Amino acid sequence: MDIYNKKAEITPFIEEQKKQGKTIGFVPTMGALHEGHLSLIKEAKEQTDIVVVSIFVNPTQFNSAEDLQKYPRNFETDAKLLEQHNCDAIFYPSIEEIYPAKDTRVFNLGELDTIMEGQFRPGHFNGVAQVLTRLFDIIPAHKAFFGLKDFQQIAVVKKIVNDLNIPIEIIPCPIIREDSGLALSSRNALLSDEHKQKANIIYKTLSGIKEHKDTNIETLKQRVKNTINEDCLFKVEYFEIVHKDTLETITEIGQNQPAVACIAVWAGNVRLIDNIEISL
Ligand code: AMP
Repeated sequence: MDIYNKKAEITPFIEEQKKQGKTIGFVPTMGALHEGHLSLIKEAKEQTDIVVVSIFVNPTQFNSAEDLQKYPRNFETDAKLLEQHNCDAIFYPSIEEIYPAKDTRVFNLGELDTIMEGQFRPGHFNGVAQVLTRLFDIIPAHKAFFGLKDFQQIAVVKKIVNDLNIPIEIIPCPIIREDSGLALSSRNALLSDEHKQKANIIYKTLSGIKEHKDTNIETLKQRVKNTINEDCLFKVEYFEIVHKDTLETITEIGQNQPAVACIAVWAGNVRLIDNIEISL
């Protein structure tokens, strides 16, 4: 497994693979790797010949300096895990390599930038678009693999790839969870023991929606929020039910629409997101 820090170093590697007729799979990450990330690598291994994983904690997608500073970083452990999982190359650039100058690009993300994550993390998706367009330029892969854990992010990525005609196929991959149901996340490492123990309330409550008896969507939403907020350990930031493809808010129950219920919850000072596909 090769480790590259610079565009000038990884470019000849990618060009050589392509010359040999190999397909390239790309998995962008911010490191602190867990089984969720590894599932993307496994999928990439199945669908493409050569798998490149990037590890870059992107400052432009963070909303606060404190959140950026406390984000877990563990390159040595990550590199070992990637080696064990037959990753072919790691791209581990410095901030200067990705942003030689301040990135002032503003992307038109439409509604995506004003709902759910867009509403509560202003500028977050613009930062995601900045880093991914840069990474897709450095690593011109055939396919890029993203987790549905970040459901709205996949919609953002698809939009920029489509708007900018970037020749890469976006492959969504399922959410990997702990046995308790808690979605794996690098941020779980920051949870207190008590929050960690009880955080499965999020998935349990989302799963319960499938058997809901409500006929009114606002009642259903309020019930979900109340259940999670009940013991005061957790605070729901938003809970929305949106159409799976358009991400438009679902306003009525009973139309059998493919929907995704999306939630953001504060567990102390750690922000967790999760979602579940449902039919309403
Ligand atoms: P991150 O390192 O948090 O930026 O995540 C890198 C990629 O891993 C993104 O495409 C995430 O959606 C994906 N990912 C993170 N957690 C999970 C999970 N529990 N299951 C599946 N994919 C995940």
